[in-house]
Amino acid sequence: MPRPSLDILDAVNSTCPWSGEPISPDSLTVYRGQTVGFCNPGCRDKFEAATLLFDAAIAGQGEVVAKA
Ligand SMILES: [Zn+2]
Repeated sequence: MPRPSLDILDAVNSTCPWSGEPISPDSLTVYRGQTVGFCNPGCRDKFEAATLLFDAAIAGQGEVVAKA
């Protein structure tokens, strides 16, 4: 998937949420219109996979949504 050019200076976070390591300029993506960073592309891809799953569930049958 082609990615827009992202700048690490625009990232809303400075450390990887998975590992706590500093984010890397080659491991950025966009979430809810904001640039977010990870320590390596693997962490980024794991995040993207998770958000895609949740987005699909929310848009679809809501199978992961627990009823209050
Ligand atoms: Zn990481």
